[in-house]
Parts: sequence; C-alpha cells; structure tokens
Amino acid sequence: MRPITSSGPIASDVRLPGSKSITNRALVAAALAEGISRLVGPLRADDTEAMVDALQRLGVSVGWRDDDLEIEGASGRFPAGEAIIDARGSGTTARFLTAAATLASGTITIDGNSRLRRRPVGDLARALNLLGAAVEVAGHEDSFPVVVHGPALSGGAAILEAGRSSQFASAILLAAPCAETDTILELTGSIVSRPYIDQTIEVMRAFGATVEWEGPTTLAVAGGGYQAQTYQVEGDASAAVYPLVAATLCGGTVTVGPIGNDSVQADLALLPVLESMGADVERSDGRIELVGHPTRLAGVTVDLNDAPDAVLALAVAGMFAKGRTEITNVGNLRIKESDRIAALEAELGKLGADVEAGEDHLSVSGNNLRPASIDAHGDHRIAMALALAGLRIPGVEMAEPQVVAKTWPGFFEMLDDLQTPLVITIDGPGGVGKSTVSRLLAVRFGFGHLETGAMYRTATLAVLEAGLEPGDSGQVAALVEALDMDVTADSILLGSRDVIGLVRSDEVGAAVSEVSALPAVRRALVGWQRQWVAKHPEGAVVEGRDIGTIVFPDSPAKIYLTALPEIRATRRVKDMGLADEEIPRIAAELARRDHFDSTRKMSPLRPADDASLVDTSELTAMEVVDLVAQLVIRRGS
Ligand code: C5P
Repeated sequence: MRPITSSGPIASDVRLPGSKSITNRALVAAALAEGISRLVGPLRADDTEAMVDALQRLGVSVGWRDDDLEIEGASGRFPAGEAIIDARGSGTTARFLTAAATLASGTITIDGNSRLRRRPVGDLARALNLLGAAVEVAGHEDSFPVVVHGPALSGGAAILEAGRSSQFASAILLAAPCAETDTILELTGSIVSRPYIDQTIEVMRAFGATVEWEGPTTLAVAGGGYQAQTYQVEGDASAAVYPLVAATLCGGTVTVGPIGNDSVQADLALLPVLESMGADVERSDGRIELVGHPTRLAGVTVDLNDAPDAVLALAVAGMFAKGRTEITNVGNLRIKESDRIAALEAELGKLGADVEAGEDHLSVSGNNLRPASIDAHGDHRIAMALALAGLRIPGVEMAEPQVVAKTWPGFFEMLDDLQTPLVITIDGPGGVGKSTVSRLLAVRFGFGHLETGAMYRTATLAVLEAGLEPGDSGQVAALVEALDMDVTADSILLGSRDVIGLVRSDEVGAAVSEVSALPAVRRALVGWQRQWVAKHPEGAVVEGRDIGTIVFPDSPAKIYLTALPEIRATRRVKDMGLADEEIPRIAAELARRDHFDSTRKMSPLRPADDASLVDTSELTAMEVVDLVAQLVIRRGS
C-alpha cells in the first residue's frame, strides 16, 4: 500500500517522460529504415522496453545510448527467420509488430501477458491478410497470440474495421511503406481515437515515408521505405494530464514539457476541457502552463472519443467539481489495459463519488467524499488518475502502485515533488471548539496539530514569571524573541520545563491578549509557526486567530468557527472543570478578549475572505469534524 499525501497549492515544473505513443511508432519506423537512427528523449518504461526487446528478436540492432535509443535499420526486411515475441502488456508493441512481422523472413509468434490476451487483434489480422499477409489469430476471442508467416506484405487495397482501436490502422500504416506496392486503406466503422492515426502519419513522414488522407476514411501509403533519422521525441501528453489535473484540483501553477505548440498528441484535447472547468492554460516555447482555481471547479459534458487516455484523470477532477461531469463516446475504454469504465465506477465509488456508468459513457459527481484503499486494477492509468484523488482526500492509499512503471516509472516521485504540505487553518474566538475539532481532525487525517493560542499563552507566562509588564513592548519583545519553546501534542516545553499545566491560568488569560498584540511578539511566533509547519510534510491543522489571514494566507483550506457567546462560555466552564455559576464571569472574560483580539491593529481576529464559516452552536464536536473534513476536501467548490 502506498499512502498518497494530500497537497496544498502546487508549484512545480515537470519534465515529462518521452511520449510512449511516439517512442513506439518511431522505433518501428527506425527499425524498418535504411541507416542508423537515433531517438532523443524517448520513454524508458515497460511498454517501450517491450518494443526494444521485440525488435531485437526480429534481428534488429537496437539499444540504449545513455538516455537515447540507437537503431540500426533493417531496410524493410527483418532478418529473423523464426521468433517468439513477448509484448508483455504493451498493446502498441503487439499490434504494431503484428503488421511489421509480415516483413520478417520466417514465422513470428506474437504473444503477451494475460491482460494482452484479452485485447482484440482480429480486425487487424483480417485487414493484413487482404494485403497479402498470412496472419493467424491463435488466441481466444480474436485475441493474442498471433502467428505471422512472412515475408508476405504485397500492399494493394484493404478495408479495416476501425471502430475498436486506432492501433490497427496505425499498425498497417507503419508497415505499409515496406510493402511490395503502394497501399490504400479504407477505414470502416466509427473511427476511434483518430488523432492517434495522425500521430502515426507524422512520425512516418519524419522518417521519409509518403502517406496521405485521401478522403475522410481513406489513407494512401506509397512504397519506398523509410530513411534513418535523428528524431526528438516529445514529452508525453498522456502523462502531462496528471500534473495538469493536479494543479487544477489543488491550485497553484504547474508547467509541463517539452510539448511543441504544434504537437498533434491526442490528449492535448484535455486542455480546453480543463479551461472550461475553471483553470487557466497557456502554451509557449514548447511548454504548457496551468494555473488552477479549485474554488471555481465546475463540471463539464464532453465527448472524449479522440482522447481516451485523458478520461480517467478528468473523471477524478469531476468528483471535486460543482455539478456533474459527463464523458461520452468512450466505449473503447472497456478494452484497454483494464475495463476502465468498470474500474472507475468501482474505485471512484469507494471514494464516495456518485458514478453512473454506461456502455460507452461515464458521469461523475461527488458530495460526500471519503478516503479509501484504491485498487489500480493492474492498470497504470487507473493508478495515476486515482492518486490525484488523494491530493484532495487525505488518507487515500494505493495497492499496486508499481503498475505505473508501464509508462511512467518516476510518477510517484513527480507527485512528491509537485506537492506542498496541506495546511488546514482553523480560526475563531475562544470557546468555539477550535482545539477539540483541530485535534480530532488532525487524528482523522494523520496530520500534525499546532495550537497557536498555547504559544501566545506560553510567551505570556514567561513574561509574567520574569516580572515584566505585559505592555512593556521593548522588554517583552526581547524576552519572547529569545524564548526556547516547543509545543507537541501533549506538552509545552519552556526550556526543559513542561508548562502545559500553567498556561491556562486566569492570570495568563488576563494578560495574553495584551502580550499577543505586540508586533514583535507576533513576528517571532508567526515565524516559529511557519517553521513548525515546514517540518510537517504530511500536512498540518493549525488553529488560532490569524492563521488563515496572516500566517498561511495561501492555504486552500480555511475554516472560521463561530458559536453563540453563552454556548462558548458554557463549553469553557466545562473544559476548565468549573462550576456553572462561573458561566457569567467566563462569558465576560471571553467577550473582553474577543473585543481586544478583534480590534487590535496587527492581525485582528476576523475570517479570511476565502474562509468557510461554520457555526458550531448546535453541533457536537464530531459533527463539526465531519463538516470541516468535507469542506477541506471540497475546498469551496
Ligand atoms: O486560543 P486561546 O484562547 O488559547 O488563545 C489565547 C489568546 O492568544 C487569544 O485570546 C489571543 O489573544 C492570542 N492568540 C493570538 N493569535 C493566535 C492565537 C492566539 O493572538 N493565532
């Protein structure tokens, strides 16, 4: 189980892994080309390693040179006479090489893991056979393994059913320049993920092939093979989606790249969708910058047929938006690494989202979200998308986090670098229940808890013990600045002495407002509070009077508690173990302090503009904690 740490606003510049789609396309083109090619900035992950190993089995000399790949092209004919290829879980490797293996000299078997064996390939085999190939589908239900008897790709005309996967068309296109004659491919069915076909065309052209759309469903490829190239692989737009959605959900700014401004990567279709949900997006110099505004996050209805990989992260964003998010025309998600629609329905449901799943669509909203242990369903994109939910819901943990290695081995390190600690600020006058609620919330979320009132009280105790006048600013400041104070869950150390039993005395209570109104005292203690939080990367609940307004003004989770004066006095009396007759005296004392605290010049007690106000008068402590937990998770949206 890997715990996911919740995050405050994001500030990060992410260097994306190379595009998986482009790396595997360029590897096939380079392997068939004449001459030695170099791929600069390719993805190094399970799916591309599967392709590299497979090409080696086909007799191609290909290997890593530091972070680049060097490929000695086979000039259109793979040397291997007989080979068994294990494509592992890589759909692109298995499908692209089903077509390319028709250019090998002997019998090539292409197989993979149990997940790959559930993914379709029959439509591809049938179209290849129309082009003169001899491809047998040996698996169950039109799936892997396939056996390819080569060399036999004559070219000519073929019809391909393109309604299940765009990888079939891409596979045929990639092999076609090395067929005996020109190839015309007619696509039937409603074509899924069309931008991926355009991506294939772009890579083929970069390696010197001639390929055109001759009509909306007709592709023409000229024979003539490929020429070796030095080829720069773009950052992966499918990977970019995760940091971009992270900033959409947590606020702050993220930049990702390298992705050229004219890139045709399919998942860039998510950018206008995130804009319409409330984020600001800008592209320049091969980088994408996104500024998130979680409080504005609004649901969308969108057809994402062209960008199926982006659906998962968008569905997670939908959980935190106002209104529903509806994603349509994505039926092929059911035949990816997992049945992604079913996986989302199950896992988002565990997190408390309201998910409605159909054969080819998904609709999500979230009202009462809660942490859960998430199952990645063996699917890298499910793992990466659901980790994003943990940035907002404290306490999410992930089984099988290692599945991300399929396309982004460094994903969780990226996520760690992206984050800032989440600080929940709880402000309000005395007796509203700040300490009880903060303590319980910190336990529930596994966060640190800092009661800043205790710090001001401790400083006041030290002032009184030193015999200073609370209003003597010069002497008080000098004393407080030099104090050696440490506040933990169950102790307040002044030097080596635990003073927890002394700071709630009437004498300290009477003097604390005056001491804490001194600017030098506030500066010293605010600096100390910020240092304390920096030592709590797991997150922190910090309570006081000015935490949301002054100490952590960038916190996305600000709460201001209020309660009726008589209720606050009653609670204080109970807390202090006093008799009920004391209620009027304590009420007067609270009122005096409230007045002083809220009218002082520096850091007066008041709610931050973006704080959520919670009246605790009629609520039990647990009810307040439940309510505040939801407010923190929803962050005003
Ligand atoms: O929360 P508690 O009642 O213990 O706080 C005692 C006093 O400390 C408050 O009345 C206020 O004068 C001061 N205080 C402050 N700023 C904070 C927390 C407490 O000025 N952040």
